Amino acid sequence: MLFDLHLHSRYSIDALSKPSTIVKICKKNSWGFSLTDHNNMNAYTKGKIKELAKKAKVLLIPGEEIKVVENGKVKGEIIAYFLKKEIEPTSFAEILDEAKKQDALLSCPHPFEWSRKNYKDFPKNHKKFVSMEIYNARAYYRKLNLKAFDYYEENLKNSIAPLGVSDAHTPEEIGNGLTKIEATTLEEVRKELKKGNTKAIPRAKAGFSRHLQTQLARRHWMDPR
Ligand SMILES: [Zn+2]
Repeated sequence: MLFDLHLHSRYSIDALSKPSTIVKICKKNSWGFSLTDHNNMNAYTKGKIKELAKKAKVLLIPGEEIKVVENGKVKGEIIAYFLKKEIEPTSFAEILDEAKKQDALLSCPHPFEWSRKNYKDFPKNHKKFVSMEIYNARAYYRKLNLKAFDYYEENLKNSIAPLGVSDAHTPEEIGNGLTKIEATTLEEVRKELKKGNTKAIPRAKAGFSRHLQTQLARRHWMDPR
């Protein structure tokens, strides 16, 4: 089955997709997904995304993209999958600790994209992660995706799950990057991620207008859709 394991809803400060729209698009394409808003899980509480996905019979892996902050400095962002409740921005050690308590799994989004809060200590701490993105459709520079791909091939092949994701902030971007996983249930997804048994599928790149819309969303100049 195909999954988009990194996407944002209107509950992210810079995104426009309504939870209902996300579910509709995933349903139409038979994709599973993880909704990974920035530093909150309001789509799960206020946005009722779990209920919407369940009703539509779409597989949803609960997630969040969390800022790592150490000594007052932003060290980057990481993603936690299978989260039960929100984790606030904090140190890597504390996020890891909380993730373990919740039986959640960590993933590294856009590992080398210095322009988009990549987690700088990923090469040092890669053993704490089950997956890493080797294709993020929102990468500003193609070579930064290639760098992630090369790093995976050279250092982490067969020890971490490679992901392709859209990192969609608008509905039109959903599915721009996908991951093939031999799984149809949450537990199977967990098992395959832990085995590193996934395949990244690049499909399209987010264009300039998509990045522009995140800026407009930040200023509340565009309505969610
Ligand atoms: Zn993101």
